Amino acid sequence: MKTIYEPGKHIPIVDEADVCVLGGSCTGVFAAVRAARLGAKVVIIEKQNCFGGVATLGLVNIWHSLYDAEFKKQIISGLTEEVVERLEKRSAVRKNSNSPSSAFNLNTEELKIELDQLITESKVKPYLHSFYAAPVVEGDRVKAVIIENKSGRQAIAAKVFIDATGDGDLCYHLGLEHFYAEAIQPPTSCAKLYYGEKLHGFGWQKAIAEKGEEFGLAEDWGWRTFVPGMPNTFMHAETHVFNVDCADAAQLTYSEIEGRRQVRALMDLARKYGPEDVLALVSLPAAIGIRETRHIKAEYQLTERDLLSGTKFHDAVAYGSYRVDIHHADCKGITFKYLDGTQEVIRHGKKAVSRWREETADSPTYYQIPYRCLVPPKFENVLFCGRMIDADPGAFGAVRVMVNLNQLGEAAGVAAFLALDSALPVAEISTQKLREVMAKGGSIIFD
Ligand SMILES: Cc1cc2nc3c(=O)[nH]c(=O)nc-3n(C[C@H](O)[C@H](O)[C@H](O)COP(=O)(O)OP(=O)(O)OC[C@H]3O[C@@H](n4cnc5c(N)ncnc54)[C@H](O)[C@@H]3O)c2cc1C
Repeated sequence: MKTIYEPGKHIPIVDEADVCVLGGSCTGVFAAVRAARLGAKVVIIEKQNCFGGVATLGLVNIWHSLYDAEFKKQIISGLTEEVVERLEKRSAVRKNSNSPSSAFNLNTEELKIELDQLITESKVKPYLHSFYAAPVVEGDRVKAVIIENKSGRQAIAAKVFIDATGDGDLCYHLGLEHFYAEAIQPPTSCAKLYYGEKLHGFGWQKAIAEKGEEFGLAEDWGWRTFVPGMPNTFMHAETHVFNVDCADAAQLTYSEIEGRRQVRALMDLARKYGPEDVLALVSLPAAIGIRETRHIKAEYQLTERDLLSGTKFHDAVAYGSYRVDIHHADCKGITFKYLDGTQEVIRHGKKAVSRWREETADSPTYYQIPYRCLVPPKFENVLFCGRMIDADPGAFGAVRVMVNLNQLGEAAGVAAFLALDSALPVAEISTQKLREVMAKGGSIIFD
């Protein structure tokens, strides 16, 4: 490849913070807010125009249950519950109790404003439209990061950095060991569609299976749901762009265009083979919904075995009950594995129910995620949280949902504060203290 020399130059340091969070989904925002509520001076960098990540930019409006798999014991609270309560006051959330596939339908446009308010109230300094571009390293520490925005190249100095970019951009630039799953879960361009009564009952998946080829749509699995307060407007997660790595600029560009093409193809299919009805495109995502790219190696890798057997960790900082949910890159279908040993495989429009393990008298009803999954083996002032988590494909299939990652964000924010407060590397903070401080700040932490 031909190269060009970029001359070195002095870059203004526009902020000096205690904690700098890169990436502003709920994972990043919750990290920032938890650190700020403990008294840290926090900066958050987000490349788009709003906070919320896949939930807002990608239109994905479902949060899963805060209870265990039997819906008896509450296992998640913290900022997730706080945000739900705030949204409820604006009629921007609907609760669907006892559902393994959706507990809350959110109006994620309202979520954007709620996250703005959380950031403002907590006195976190936001940088929107600001792309994290590169780290500045001194020995085993990151000293600053370079961001790019309308004002040019700027530096943010901080004492602890939290990588919440989804793709683990900071960790990748630091040369930390990373890996890809053998089959990366494919991205999806969601879409909000408006239609009338007749299309409500349309068999979208059956139609894709039978007629999709005519519109360049692969036989596949998808879902759709309503948006609170918006009658006749539905959020469709029906497309998949297969065999792409969205951490690669060229493949990401292709995926955005291909995802939007598939949305139009879906509408064309409904117009041709569905009942005659009004059908309008309300909105497309500001960024394609990315399920998976690279994972960063951490002090500990969470495995499917840990997860489905409910392994207890002394440094557990998050709990979950959402099923293992793998959108297949190869066989174009989906597999769900449950803590009670059952499994569902949906392929070619048919659901096959079986067991992934023998029946036992007792099954775990929730799983645990340890702090060590967020701690890289190198760099004493860097943590990461989000879908780049160190997890094998089965464990990742479950922990990747937002109610789980939200808790990891909160853990990273509290851990960053404790590292500062105790003047210790992030890997050496007391995890007992971490769990105590998290619980004091509203998180559910079990003995
Ligand atoms: C189509 C789809 C449907 C899904 N359905 C559900 C569901 O129903 N419920 C559920 O809970 N989960 C669902 N998931 C999974 C879940 O949404 C994701 O795993 C989760 O949102 C990932 O969170 P994250 O914080 O790691 O990353 P993201 O949400 O991707 O957030 C990363 C943030 O960092 C920003 N960023 C990235 N790079 C940079 C940079 N260099 N500089 C500055 N900012 C940067 C991005 O703009 C973004 O705001 C779905 C995922 C997809 C794609």
